[in-house]
Amino acid sequence: MSEPQRRGVLERWAEVLPITPQTPRITLGEGDTPLVRSVAIERELGVDELWFKLESSNPTGSFKDRGMVVAVAKAMERGAQAVLCASTGNTSASAAAYAARCGLEASILVPHGRVAAGKLAQAVAFGARIVEIEGSFDHALTLARSVAGTHPIALVNSVNPDRIEGQKTASYEICETLGDAPDALAIPVGNAGNITAYWKGFVECAERDYASLHPRMLGFQAAGAAPIVRGEPVDDPQTVATAIRIGNPASWKPAEQARDESEGLIEAVSDDEILEAYRLLAGSEGLFVEPASAASVAGLRKLNREGGLRGGRVVAVLTGSGLKDPETAEHANTPKVVRATATFEGVERALGL
Ligand SMILES: *Cc1c(COP(=O)(O)O)cnc(C)c1O
Repeated sequence: MSEPQRRGVLERWAEVLPITPQTPRITLGEGDTPLVRSVAIERELGVDELWFKLESSNPTGSFKDRGMVVAVAKAMERGAQAVLCASTGNTSASAAAYAARCGLEASILVPHGRVAAGKLAQAVAFGARIVEIEGSFDHALTLARSVAGTHPIALVNSVNPDRIEGQKTASYEICETLGDAPDALAIPVGNAGNITAYWKGFVECAERDYASLHPRMLGFQAAGAAPIVRGEPVDDPQTVATAIRIGNPASWKPAEQARDESEGLIEAVSDDEILEAYRLLAGSEGLFVEPASAASVAGLRKLNREGGLRGGRVVAVLTGSGLKDPETAEHANTPKVVRATATFEGVERALGL
């Protein structure tokens, strides 16, 4: 028997999304991502269950597609012919893909020299107009907001509520697969739209009796880009995890609300801790993610060391694919490469046989 066709976020979750019969049902097959049980890190943490939500399985390799499909569909419904976003990389890859699919113009504002190679390659392939800003992501977002405010071009950053609506569907999927909400959800925090969206989704699931409990929301920022943890904006955020290199998150307040209402926390993890988790996920779980995604697991390991991790069932969101950032993969890992002559004996020797 063949698998049923992937329906996409708009079809599958129509009843919980702000869409109308006039909203075009566009899709690239986003959503319905795997929830995979841990085989190694679960034991290290001593929790009852650890699951990974593989958002890297979305069509452009990150969770951004869940919200982008809603934002682009709603923009089209309103008659837009062009979309604009500021991006650390994945938002632009996603916006460019849906724009290409739907015949819209995509323009992206990116901080010069700070976007991982795979993400830029996607925007180029999808034919987006790329504007490199001499400044940070935060500058780029401020500019994008004012340009979209004065010209007929739809802003598709997560300040657009349609993005949050689409992204909340991941919580519905988790509750559906597990039969309930987990006890805790670990998630990287950059511009803080995603933690906001997951919390909205879990609150709705409880209201609709899809879940009997709310998870504690465990958010993790990179130590060099941790404005929410520090309680003030960071002027020049620094971290290897470029997707969360953000100094002044747009969804700061709702992220704090998610933290407080869920009795959760938002803490910082160092780049060393992020890269350790990055290597561990690949080497012991077979999951190659981008550095920002590893922040969720780095955070769980840190909480566990400090005695702050309660047991129960935990879900870690793996937000994007390791293929996005080949430079970090090269620098953070030691390849096991040996040279051999092109002979049977040469290969035997190289393999130590
Ligand atoms: C966008 C992104 C994040 C951060 O999500 P926010 O909604 O900005 O907090 C984390 N990881 C990846 C891979 C991303 O693309």
